[in-house]
Amino acid sequence: MNNKGFTSRLVHADRKLNAPENGAVHQATNNSVLFEYKDAQELVDVFQGKKAGHVYSRSSSGSNAALQNILTHLEDGVGAVTFATGMAAITATMLSLLKSGDHLIVSHFLFGNTRSFCETLQSLNIELSFVDVTDVRHVKAAFKSNTKAVYLETIANPVTQVADLRAIGQLCETKNALFIVDNTMTPPNMFDAKSVLASITVSSLTKYIAGHGNVLGGAVTDTGLFDWTGFDNILPMYRGPDKSQWGLTQIRKRGLRDMGGTLSSEAAHGISIGLETLVLRTHKICENATRLASYLHTHDKVLAVYYPGLADHPQHFLAREHFKGYGGVLSLDLADNIDPILFLNALNLVICATHLGDTRTLALPVASTIYFENSAQQRQEMGVNDNMIRMSIGIEDIDDLVADFEQAFAKF
Ligand SMILES: *Cc1c(COP(=O)(O)O)cnc(C)c1O
Repeated sequence: MNNKGFTSRLVHADRKLNAPENGAVHQATNNSVLFEYKDAQELVDVFQGKKAGHVYSRSSSGSNAALQNILTHLEDGVGAVTFATGMAAITATMLSLLKSGDHLIVSHFLFGNTRSFCETLQSLNIELSFVDVTDVRHVKAAFKSNTKAVYLETIANPVTQVADLRAIGQLCETKNALFIVDNTMTPPNMFDAKSVLASITVSSLTKYIAGHGNVLGGAVTDTGLFDWTGFDNILPMYRGPDKSQWGLTQIRKRGLRDMGGTLSSEAAHGISIGLETLVLRTHKICENATRLASYLHTHDKVLAVYYPGLADHPQHFLAREHFKGYGGVLSLDLADNIDPILFLNALNLVICATHLGDTRTLALPVASTIYFENSAQQRQEMGVNDNMIRMSIGIEDIDDLVADFEQAFAKF
């Protein structure tokens, strides 16, 4: 199957990789919590990992395994673990791989809830350095003898800063540090995490992967590039014969099994259906976002537009190098005399809502919503202005989106 294009592989992945019963093209959703073993020894062997199988669906199930196989294939990794939400994947990954006394370098520009979770890590005596990841030099300067990992997002939200991905990947390789990339904003058809030497990727499947605003999910994938034998946080019992599985085994046991953020069978099925149209959707979304960004860029009622596809975006060159398409998130600063709340109320087609990666175009005022817990100074450091609106562009007909902005601007 590897010689086929991305979408051909994707729409046939469930059937080819998971071999559903009776010639079905979808893996059946199975809601059994428990799994019967006629031979007690077999149950023991599955428990001990000597034999493949499921024992309790908090830890693993056919539906989750099927989605994990598809994600592993699309990312060309060595395995994946799925979770109930993106945050469940992120928190389980960090808490199972890091311990008290470790140092972690994280991006200054993080998804708000991940940023807030960083404070929980600090409270557990994990030392954090927040750095501007648009330039590898800041990351290099932050390295210490106890640095275990670097964590960043490919394109940050809402200001769309693009990380200096390959240079940071190379730096992590020389330092033997784990390079954790949140690629929610750039799913695997747009971005090859292995090309920048990512060790593991985490992502919110809720966004572009599932794509229709009807299901939550998260995943972590191991690219196979990291040498786990040099990572001393892996517990002896998880150092099995296949060294490539050490990290995921610990995440599966300590993160998924013990913390319990399990993805339901229905959600796994919903995600795999949404995933089938990933390329069509993201293609249209990127095209719409590019068109809308250039329209807004020259508008006299807009002070600034943040979109990696614009030639004057500070990391446009990095985005062009690493991604196919420039993503669906676009932010703008309205002119000072336009109240963002009133402006959003004037839009008719665009939905005022949080969330991103949907088929519908969404917008929200940034400072008073996702950053309201942050101080004015923190917002300034993150480049968030009071008049900023964040948009997640959908797949609507572009003329209708432009017309919606035209009529809204006309009211101010
Ligand atoms: C939404 C999001 C998450 C969290 O995902 P959920 O599925 O909502 O828990 C993490 N990282 C990024 C970049 C996101 O956009």
